[in-house]
Amino acid sequence: MSSKSEEKLPAHLVIFPFPAQGHMNSMLNLAHLLCLTEFHVTFIVSEFTHRLLLKNTSVPVTFAAYPGFQFRIIPDGLPDDHPRFGDKIADIIPAVTNTMVPLFKKIMADEDLLASPNRRPATCFIADGFFSFAADFAEEICLPMVYFRTPSAAYLWAYFHVDDLIQAQEIPIKEKSMDELVKGIPGMEGFLRSRDLPGFFRTDDVNDHLLQSLAAATRQVVRAQAVIFNTFEDLEGPILSIMLEKLPRIYNIGPIHEHQKSRLKEKKSEASIVAGNFWEEDRSCIDWLNGQPPRSVIYVSFGSLTVVTREQLIEFWHGLVNSSHRFLWVIRPDSITGGGQILTELMEGTKEKGYLVKWAPQEEVLNHTAVGAFLTHSGWNSTLESIVAGVPMICWPYFGDQTINSRFVSEVWKIGLDIKDTCDRLIIEKAVREVMEVRKDEFLERADGMAKMAKKAVERGDNPLYGVIPSSVGNLSSLLE
Ligand code: UDP
Repeated sequence: MSSKSEEKLPAHLVIFPFPAQGHMNSMLNLAHLLCLTEFHVTFIVSEFTHRLLLKNTSVPVTFAAYPGFQFRIIPDGLPDDHPRFGDKIADIIPAVTNTMVPLFKKIMADEDLLASPNRRPATCFIADGFFSFAADFAEEICLPMVYFRTPSAAYLWAYFHVDDLIQAQEIPIKEKSMDELVKGIPGMEGFLRSRDLPGFFRTDDVNDHLLQSLAAATRQVVRAQAVIFNTFEDLEGPILSIMLEKLPRIYNIGPIHEHQKSRLKEKKSEASIVAGNFWEEDRSCIDWLNGQPPRSVIYVSFGSLTVVTREQLIEFWHGLVNSSHRFLWVIRPDSITGGGQILTELMEGTKEKGYLVKWAPQEEVLNHTAVGAFLTHSGWNSTLESIVAGVPMICWPYFGDQTINSRFVSEVWKIGLDIKDTCDRLIIEKAVREVMEVRKDEFLERADGMAKMAKKAVERGDNPLYGVIPSSVGNLSSLLE
């Protein structure tokens, strides 16, 4: 029971993201939006991630403006010199499960749910949709729990049907059926091929640990009081409507980075939107872009987790150079297997045709007038950022939700091409020419239409966070109160 003085304080939301770049970015954006809506927020980060945020971002400065915000920093149990990314990324999952989650549970119990004289005990736990422990834990400590899903709604919907797909023998996927349409996912029958199913569905073993553990995590989602998606109705409306039968309380507050911009503008705030980058942005690429003609550059980035082989990198490089279009290419040094030396060689060989950086201010890049298309791995944040900027995409998905996102880009929204499962210089060159020349106007027109819808989705009155629209489930702010 809260005391009378506590009742005057705002609700206190505890946000716990999975410590990977894409999750962190969008959940920091969520935290910022909630601070702007005057909630108190405790944000759980690993020591390692917190160090990166301090070093490379303005995140600590931005949040210093909100007295109701606090980080709660906990170790992930990995040695300090463990890289956490590149080919060592898989170590993060057991680190979170075995170290961060038990510590988080202990803190929640020991520190009276993180209360202080000026802060109520936690009133709601906002868990990363990845965390299957959250439903049992919230029930145990009698705390309302809301899931925040960082990937698309379609991805979650696919996971709801793993058992159906196994029963219908659509999983394991047979090599010869890769291009056949999948029948077992309602709402996607007309366009989703086996090839486009989430990356972890590609297994010979129906008991595969990753497939089954992600399906099990999906089954937990229905136990939350509500599910928040970083999406919007004009983008995923048909899937979202079907999903209501399993998840009656859905809040679509995306594209979350644009939502934040619109809220800051409305509040006449000087604060910038949060970009929780783990790597230092190389802003020299903006100077380089300033010198390029409008829509002349293809921006290339495969996000924070993709790892490519030396051979794949060389195919991309030839494809880009042979297309004769200029390119700005993000190559994280930890993203290449089989020899980082190649990076120096590519930089030397590229000369005036392109510009290579280790990490870019992506949102700013996508909104630069010189950028005409985005060669992307189809991570959900990158996809949304490209949509808001009205930039057509060439999709080369790597894993997870990316294989399904890229199919939506090419076949549902028709704002780009999907070249999944190929890595050949001729295909890359052809795709670049197609998007930058042959079908340029068609793609730009559709991307522009989609960008307008994305911006409309976050205007005041159109978004459930403000509570103005009578979304079928009421407003999110009052749910969190
Ligand atoms: N990003 C960035 N600079 C880069 C590359 C990526 O700021 O050079 C950001 C990008 O804007 C996005 C995030 O990193 O917000 C990547 O998230 P996404 O979901 O697209 O992919 P992931 O990294 O999770 O695979």
